Amino acid sequence: MLGQIPDEVIEEVRKSNDIVDVIGEYVQLKKQGRNFFGLCPFHGEKTPSFSVTQDKQIFHCFGCGKGGNVVTFVMEIEGYNFFQAIQHLADKSGQTLPEEFQQRDENQHLSKENQDVLKAYEWLTKLYHHLLRHTKEGKEGYKYLKDRGFTDEVIDTFQLGFSPNSKDFIAQFLEKKGFHKQSMIKAGILTSNDQHNNSTDRFRGRVIFPIRNHLGKSIGFGGRTITNQEPKYLNSPETDLFQKGKLLYNFDLARSHIRKSSEAVLFEGYLDVISAHKAGIFNGIATLGTSITEAQAKLLRRYVDTVVICYDSDKAGIQASYKASKLLRSVGCNVKIASMPDGLDPDDFIRKFGDTRFKNEVILASDTYMTFMMKYIKKDYNLNLEGDRIQYVESVLDEIALIERPVEREHYLKELANEFELTVETLSQEIHSRREKIGLKQDKPKQSSHTNMTKGPYRTKKLLPAYHNAELQLIAYMLKDEAIAEKIKQELGGNFTIDQHKILVTYLYGYYEEGHEPNISHFIEKISDSDIQNLVIQIAMMPFNKDISDKEINDYIRIIQSEQSDKTKIKSLRVEQKMAEKQNDPFKAAQIGMQILEIQRQIKNSNP
Ligand SMILES: [Zn+2]
Repeated sequence: MLGQIPDEVIEEVRKSNDIVDVIGEYVQLKKQGRNFFGLCPFHGEKTPSFSVTQDKQIFHCFGCGKGGNVVTFVMEIEGYNFFQAIQHLADKSGQTLPEEFQQRDENQHLSKENQDVLKAYEWLTKLYHHLLRHTKEGKEGYKYLKDRGFTDEVIDTFQLGFSPNSKDFIAQFLEKKGFHKQSMIKAGILTSNDQHNNSTDRFRGRVIFPIRNHLGKSIGFGGRTITNQEPKYLNSPETDLFQKGKLLYNFDLARSHIRKSSEAVLFEGYLDVISAHKAGIFNGIATLGTSITEAQAKLLRRYVDTVVICYDSDKAGIQASYKASKLLRSVGCNVKIASMPDGLDPDDFIRKFGDTRFKNEVILASDTYMTFMMKYIKKDYNLNLEGDRIQYVESVLDEIALIERPVEREHYLKELANEFELTVETLSQEIHSRREKIGLKQDKPKQSSHTNMTKGPYRTKKLLPAYHNAELQLIAYMLKDEAIAEKIKQELGGNFTIDQHKILVTYLYGYYEEGHEPNISHFIEKISDSDIQNLVIQIAMMPFNKDISDKEINDYIRIIQSEQSDKTKIKSLRVEQKMAEKQNDPFKAAQIGMQILEIQRQIKNSNP
């Protein structure tokens, strides 16, 4: 089966992929002291407890406890096995793995049927694109896109294509390639025509918009009719490969731009994203004709602080913007809302007014959340009427009360006060009582730290017994310094009190024996047990003094040894006590009991 990839090769791949860069593609990381922090991609959270240590090349989440190195991160987040993760990282850093490890199917974690469907999508994406660009069969599609202002560069970037209006052209193509007809029908690539046992291309006669996943692979198509077929837009059906609620269109291409600007522009459909790209907006992404889901919002939150919502400016679009902004704010995003003159969508606007005006008058001029809200609420009231005015102010106050940042709240209160000639004090009182009613906290001085990193198991207030702490301290130094590990090996060997520590140091002794240098990220790869891996990471993340004196080391060793000798003593006393009871000598048994209690009392006193 799988041959082992040589250690040096793995090491080389790991060295060429800095953990901060790799994780940075999935999580927005901010430097804080020596570490980077971000929102954990493995569990939902609003305050960052996910930390990455560059010098140790490891990550650790103080919230859910996950941790590892760059390889385990890729395995975890992409659902890859070890080999796939190495392959993925090697590709990223432009390395070529030795011949015998190549050509393994990177999709082998998928079912055979899904692997086929992915391959079919890959072939068809190329074929449709080729037909559009270079053949007379694709000419009408090409002309349609050109008429709509699409440049060749855009057509190539998004691999736009055309499916000729032929009954069996695509079906035959797929058959020749050896794809199973039933799986193609199941995936929604072909539609079956039961009467004649024929199948036809579902997208025939349409311009094709390949829909890529975050790795840039086509997993579905959108087809736009150019001859007034119904429906105007046709998407691939939902399958386990193609789940609209989890997917963000163009995320693969936009990701690096999103990361740089810490901002994403959210559109309603792929056409808007492509038009915006043409206009120089490269951080655009879209849901696929459905409203944004919580999963998508959380995914975005990991990458950005701010999302600019740029939906159609008709009634439905504004309603959708309202919903999306609520959801995005609930996961912690800062939201802005772009708007266009009545009824237009982004693609209309760009075609009508051009790229520059779209950028300046729509994207850069987008409203803040509250400004949008005030407009949104206003549409239901006639502010010339006294009663409506009061109700309007009440509704706006309801919204302002929900804003987390006091500065922001004050800003809008002032605006509201000015507009309706009210005093800020009155309005502030209103806010105060509203917040109280819904159980939101009143303003307190801000906490200095905005991360959750104090949550870790070894950072809790609860003090550990002295021997436990001594073992953790020793291991921390042993991980960093081979000489210290050697000394401990001589004096304590594997005689640590906590079972997990015993296993850990056994791995560590073996690691050094193999001639490796201290290297956390490398070391954890040698450990098959993920609990022990996490323990190593946790210990490596503990704050500790740079240098340790021999005396300190000896103290720790002594604490551990005396704990153990106490334990052994108690054990043998218990045996003696049993014997005494058996021999019907209650006096002796009681005496021994006293001795045990005394040792236990001493242990208790020596531990905090
Ligand atoms: Zn976590």
